[in-house]
Amino acid sequence: MTEATPPMMDCDQAMAELDDFLRAELSVELIDRMEAHLARCGHCRQVGTYERAFRARLERLDAGRCCPEALRARITALLAREAGTS
Ligand SMILES: [Zn+2]
Repeated sequence: MTEATPPMMDCDQAMAELDDFLRAELSVELIDRMEAHLARCGHCRQVGTYERAFRARLERLDAGRCCPEALRARITALLAREAGTS
């Protein structure tokens, strides 16, 4: 018998793949593993939900209207700080 499920992705890996996951640029296997991880890991799910909402908002803003890069850097720093406290 073969292993039915690959080992669960850890949080570092999930966070590293999150960007591509949200852009739907991962392979089907990685998407499955991401979804499996997000289903079990509240922290990564929260970050993923937040990132997705953030991207949707950025898409609605015209790039010239504010400073998305600066804003993103701030939020990324905040998220990194939160991740560090877990
Ligand atoms: Zn996680």
